[in-house]
Amino acid sequence: MQIKGLKLNKKKIFLILLSLGTAGMVVYLAWFNQSCLSDQEESLRFVDRRGELLGFYLADQKCYSAYCGLSQVSPHFIRAIVLAEDRGFYSHGGVNLSSLTRALFQNVQEGRVVSGGSTITMQLAKLLLNADQKRTIFRKLEEIIFALKLELHLPKSRVLEEYINRLPFGNMIYGIGPASEFYFDKSPAQLSLSQAVELAVIPKAPTTYNPIKNKYQLKARRDWILDEFYRQGFVSSHEYRRVASEEVHFNIRDSLFVAPHFIELIKRRHGNDLSDHKKIDTTLDRNLQLKVLGIVREHLQRLRPYHVQSAAAVVIDNRSHEVLAYLGSPDYFNAENNGYVDYAIALRQPGSTLKPFVYGVALEEGYTPSSILPDIRFPARGGFFPRNHDGMEHGPLRLRTSLACSYNIPAFYLAVKLTPQRILENLQLAGFSYLDKPAGFYGEAIALGSGEVRLLDLVTAYSCLANKGVLYQPRLLKEWPASGRRQIFSPQCAFLLFDILSDPAARAGSFGFFSSMNLPFPLAIKTGTSKGFRDKWAVAVNSEYTVGVWLGNPSGRNISQQVVETGNSATIVRDIFLILQEDWEQGGLPIPPGIVQREVCALSGELAGPYCRDRVEEYFEEWNLPEGPCSYHVKTRAGIRTVYPELYREWWQKNQLTEQAHLGGSREVEIVSPQQGDRYYISQALPLESQQIRFKVMGAANGEKITYRLNNRIFRILSYPSFPLFQLKPGEYLLEIEIAGERRDQVSFIVH
Ligand SMILES: [Zn+2]
Repeated sequence: MQIKGLKLNKKKIFLILLSLGTAGMVVYLAWFNQSCLSDQEESLRFVDRRGELLGFYLADQKCYSAYCGLSQVSPHFIRAIVLAEDRGFYSHGGVNLSSLTRALFQNVQEGRVVSGGSTITMQLAKLLLNADQKRTIFRKLEEIIFALKLELHLPKSRVLEEYINRLPFGNMIYGIGPASEFYFDKSPAQLSLSQAVELAVIPKAPTTYNPIKNKYQLKARRDWILDEFYRQGFVSSHEYRRVASEEVHFNIRDSLFVAPHFIELIKRRHGNDLSDHKKIDTTLDRNLQLKVLGIVREHLQRLRPYHVQSAAAVVIDNRSHEVLAYLGSPDYFNAENNGYVDYAIALRQPGSTLKPFVYGVALEEGYTPSSILPDIRFPARGGFFPRNHDGMEHGPLRLRTSLACSYNIPAFYLAVKLTPQRILENLQLAGFSYLDKPAGFYGEAIALGSGEVRLLDLVTAYSCLANKGVLYQPRLLKEWPASGRRQIFSPQCAFLLFDILSDPAARAGSFGFFSSMNLPFPLAIKTGTSKGFRDKWAVAVNSEYTVGVWLGNPSGRNISQQVVETGNSATIVRDIFLILQEDWEQGGLPIPPGIVQREVCALSGELAGPYCRDRVEEYFEEWNLPEGPCSYHVKTRAGIRTVYPELYREWWQKNQLTEQAHLGGSREVEIVSPQQGDRYYISQALPLESQQIRFKVMGAANGEKITYRLNNRIFRILSYPSFPLFQLKPGEYLLEIEIAGERRDQVSFIVH
């Protein structure tokens, strides 16, 4: 009895539970709140610093912006999406048992979930449930029950409508409306047969069928759907033949995507912290971003004959540490040039761009801007001889000249003296944390760019020069507190580096008075070229902004050497600065306490003595003044002589320097800017009045009257060292200079 009673009780409990469960299910299925469908408010909007939308970037799931009724969508698309996703859609009640069973068997066979067997209604349920990527049996059950509920309360047309407005179409686009606008620049009602089918292919696997990256796979599946259309009599044989022969062609409206790489970077860095937000206030300046994009594209157009296909650019505000413009590539949607790859964070060889961090260590370790570094051939470990880009050796060089002219030999010499380990430590501190191999791996060549860096990190590191040597992590989000403050250099050292890199006279020996590096306001600039001319860099900083530009090829193909020599990355940086900097009075850095100026001999770097011919003013830290007077220029019984240290004997003999050459005699007066054969381009992106060049001459005596003739007509007469400005106008020019009626030099140049 007892056992029987217990059995009865068990049965009763079971029945009660079953009826409760059934009742619960009925209530669950009967109660339907349509508000679950209207979640447009949830869209995750990325806006620029003034609140302007940076395109229609949406959250990963469930969100859509431009809702379309079924009647506003091409019937070809409706037909194709049903065919592609769920051909039994109109006949099942939300769940397709036969395909579900088939999927179950497949899954059991494989021992994991491989096939979904989902109907359109189940997919909608999944999208509405805000499902994560995990595919578990419970998740599936939940979808099935919710799908049944949807079918119970909504007509098929509404299920379909909600579904196509939530579908993922790749590239962060959700919903047929935005997809149609974006990929074909038209409304979904205007889609052609082929376009409608192409769009219907994508949601199945937005990555596999990405219209930008995987056109080939997309076309194969489009043709499969077209075959079905033909077989089922939806299209005539004539139409079928016409469309099937068409290539897949998208007409992408990328103006809707102002900064895709920037958004991707934010998602990568802050993804988890953004889930509660509906609007993300970024630091980007939409206007500036578009202008930078315009400048970069204009330059790339021009550089096409020189095999330059891609570029990246980053602009940081030095005071707020906010990223104002961020270009990962010139064209996100150009698959041929891997436009979707973000070159602002791609690792590439830095060329000479790390040299300031080597020289910074030297200044911290007791060198001064006038310390003499030997620019002479010397054997390094393993028999490697560093060479300068001009193939020459320049003998004793002041540190200022060595860095500004970016010579390799003195930088290599410093790496030997300071040790690669010490330099590597400083680079890691400056944010190049992925230079993580032992110092021996890079060797002294670390000073010449043997590692790999990212443009964003390079720009961040350079901005420390404007911030008293302190490096701040750049900010991407407005509400995000600045973090990661690190002292890289002392304020004095940062100032000296800035002063050297912004000194047009110091770099003239290497770059001439090349116009693209000289601007009407203070600007420290450094260029770099990687081995084999694969990458071309320029980074520039003043008190207000830091700008970096990379030029190169996704394929790794070399850039034509001609471009390398005319320094086009520097030209892009210059153009960006010209639109950034409204106030030309600003840009310089205040001289920090503890810095003093002294007159030194240009040759020996020591305090100028009575016999030194070339003297320059130089900055020093108070505690670290040079010796003097100059030991190179001495008076002997035979007269004033230049005496080089013994170290330079061989170099001196090889270069056959005579004292005469150093101690005066007839001077060569020559035009140093422009250089013979220079080409200038007038930029449409810049105001015309900012596009001027200055003619420069070297070697005349102070006060000497120089007549500048342009195409045989007198252009200006000015006393040396005043130089005339020339407003760029298209044409071919011959510039000649005359002193006292005698022609001394001439160059020809072209303005396009
Ligand atoms: Zn001297």
